[in-house]
Amino acid sequence: MRALSNIVLSCVERDRLESELSEARIRVRNLSRLRHLTPPELAVLDQREYTAHARLRDHDAEHGCQR
Ligand SMILES: [Zn+2]
Repeated sequence: MRALSNIVLSCVERDRLESELSEARIRVRNLSRLRHLTPPELAVLDQREYTAHARLRDHDAEHGCQR
């Protein structure tokens, strides 16, 4: 994944999207540890994570900052 790590890549927008995605993942993990989540709650959290992931993917496709 980081084969081109010698090339410095800095994209503020991508960093933001990446942290959004990891926050969404951490939130699901923490909540499911605290209590049993209902299917509708899980669906909302899943959707949030999916959206964050899609935004990141779209950004990579459009911006090309990972190339
Ligand atoms: Zn970018």
